[in-house]
Amino acid sequence: MKIVLLGAPGAGKGSQAELISKEYGFTHISTGDAFRSNIARETEIGKIAKDYVEKGLLVPDEIVVEIVKERLTHDDCKKGFILDGFPRTIPQAIALDKIVKLDCVLNIKVDNEIVIDRISGRRACSGCNQIYHISTYSKETCDKCGGKLYIRNDDKKETVLNRLEVYNEETAPLIEYYKNKNILFDVDGSNSIAKTFERVKEIIGKLKI
Ligand code: AMP
Repeated sequence: MKIVLLGAPGAGKGSQAELISKEYGFTHISTGDAFRSNIARETEIGKIAKDYVEKGLLVPDEIVVEIVKERLTHDDCKKGFILDGFPRTIPQAIALDKIVKLDCVLNIKVDNEIVIDRISGRRACSGCNQIYHISTYSKETCDKCGGKLYIRNDDKKETVLNRLEVYNEETAPLIEYYKNKNILFDVDGSNSIAKTFERVKEIIGKLKI
């Protein structure tokens, strides 16, 4: 199955993508993680993306599209994949349509106040990118790999507001785009991760029949 996760930053796309991947074996592709990894490794792409990512701006379409295009040729995508954080603009969605035929787009909906609270309490693992929230996890190291937790530059408050604005202007129009293709399903993301996942499974279950 080929799935796209839509939603504002902090809506819970990463958590749901991880759960879907575990439950159904589809490959989780996060363009945000790809950029962060390129930035940490100081690759050419990382050098170009650094400024955009740290300011909460979108990396130019051509660069993101090339990364995703190449990633989708890997064997692990044959069993299905979940795109988390891509597409984020109409040109990206058009480019994606030329590469694959999507089965569904899950639109995870959450109010702005919840998003701001979630992101400002978010901590990421420097080793494996696992995300934690200070309200439910008080340790300074990761339970999975022991890596040190840190606040991502793009999770800092001033950047979060930028990211929300960018989402409303550039990404929200995708809701209409996919609605018109009859592949958009709304998911209430204001509940717990587990409850949200119940709804996600319900949608995927119906589509698989
Ligand atoms: P994320 O972790 O998905 O919120 O992505 C973090 C940052 O990576 C974003 O704020 C953008 O700077 C960049 N990024 C990730 N995906 C895309 C995309 N599809 N188009 C442009 N920039 C992206």
